[in-house]
Amino acid sequence: MPKSLTPTDTHQLLHIPSSSTHKRAAICVAIFLFIVSMLILPFGERMLPEVKPFLPAFIAWFLFGDFMTAYLLYSQFRAARSMSLLVLSCTYLYTALITLPHILTFPGVFSDTGLIGAGDQSAVWLWVLWHGGFPAGIMLYVWTSWKTSAPLKPRGLGRKGAAAIMVVLGIVLGAYLLVTLGNDVLPRIIQKGNFRALLDSGIGPVVWMLNMLALVLLLVVHRGRSVLHLWLTVAVFVFLLDVTLTLFSGARYSLGWYAARTNSLISATVVICSLMYEVNKLYIRMVKNREQLLSSRQRLEEANEQLTRLSEMDGLTEIPNRRAFDDKLSEAMKSSAAGSYPAALLLVDVDYFKAYNDHYGHLGGDAVLKEVAAALEQTASASSLASAYRYGGEEFAVIMKEAGPEEAAALGEQIREAVARLQISHEHSQVSPHVSVSIGVHSRIVRDGETGQQLVDQADRALYRAKEAGRNRVEING
Ligand code: GH3
Ligand code: MG
Ligand code: MG
Repeated sequence: MPKSLTPTDTHQLLHIPSSSTHKRAAICVAIFLFIVSMLILPFGERMLPEVKPFLPAFIAWFLFGDFMTAYLLYSQFRAARSMSLLVLSCTYLYTALITLPHILTFPGVFSDTGLIGAGDQSAVWLWVLWHGGFPAGIMLYVWTSWKTSAPLKPRGLGRKGAAAIMVVLGIVLGAYLLVTLGNDVLPRIIQKGNFRALLDSGIGPVVWMLNMLALVLLLVVHRGRSVLHLWLTVAVFVFLLDVTLTLFSGARYSLGWYAARTNSLISATVVICSLMYEVNKLYIRMVKNREQLLSSRQRLEEANEQLTRLSEMDGLTEIPNRRAFDDKLSEAMKSSAAGSYPAALLLVDVDYFKAYNDHYGHLGGDAVLKEVAAALEQTASASSLASAYRYGGEEFAVIMKEAGPEEAAALGEQIREAVARLQISHEHSQVSPHVSVSIGVHSRIVRDGETGQQLVDQADRALYRAKEAGRNRVEING
């Protein structure tokens, strides 16, 4: 029995291994962004124009990217029944959801002081929870993927997924309530739009350390072995650059601040691109597999047809064999019973064939059987209603549909003459100088419940009479 795929196999199927080209590309992207970020860092505090639509546009892109990533990862969790993929999917759902209150509470975007009960440091606290929550989620992912290899049970998978989504929603709601209601209670991390306090309070460095830790863990445990892990590592690395630039950007709308936002966009984009790449690869693989499946199915069908043909073919004479005869006879009898027209059966036996074998040898006998079979088939196939079979030994049978005794006897006579025309010498025949056949014919309208054997017996009786009467002749019974 073929071995069915385990979910661990599915997990491996879902994640394409990263090639050295992938690794080179990821390293190049990481180095490039690192260099650009480091070049910007000393000038991070330089103020740039306040482009108001920048933030909503950035958040819209970010939201779309993260929701899509969460969705694709959720689908993979359902397919692979992997707890760790659910955790990763929820991490992306969290980052997508937390940007919503972040943008709504951000001062000067939708209103001067921010919407939905925003305090003066609600947006920046949400930034902290966003940039601290993401690496925390990544670490949880690394931990679960390292700890659990057994797939989840198929039952209740949807419920587990829904519960995890509810937990994320709860956390985001809690975070929102914390930063709005607790605006004045929470430590000060922004003063008149200046981020200095974020750094000095130690909260910024904690966020930075969390990202660093997540990056190291991801690198140590997964080493970018799959396309997803490779680009996830790049994403966390770029996220770390984003945090670094933010901490040293001084204030909103500075060069460092703009560069940091761009980095988080890149961070969100690389993972979705890697997932799209994987999905596309899997799609191509699926199409190829399907093609292979279809062509092997076709080959199997052809082989089956050939096998059926061979199983119904007599090996020596290459005309249909006894098995085909039995099928055809019961079919002919059924249609005779249903249509009330006669079915005819002719039994053909080579005369003095034992003597032929004895004199000319068994191989000579075989050659005769071939020739007789060919003549028989040719004569029978001249009528669309008749078909010839090797019945066994040196006996042949012809089934003729919708033929009365006269028509059947006429065909018998044609067969006898066709064999005679072959003029195969038979010195030991007592009836003719050439190989001859005796034929017994039986034809009648078949009644319901009659068996093929009854028809055969009747034809055999006629054949016996033909032998008794001297051979090389056709006798009718019925
Ligand atoms: P009759 O005229 O009464 O039919 O006599 P006969 O000798 O033909 O009948 P009998 O049944 O005594 O002998 C049939 C012979 O056919 C015996 C057997 O060796 C031979 N035979 C059966 N199958 C084959 C075959 O596949 N090849 C060859 N060469 N001979 C076969
Ligand atoms: Mg015989
Ligand atoms: Mg014989």
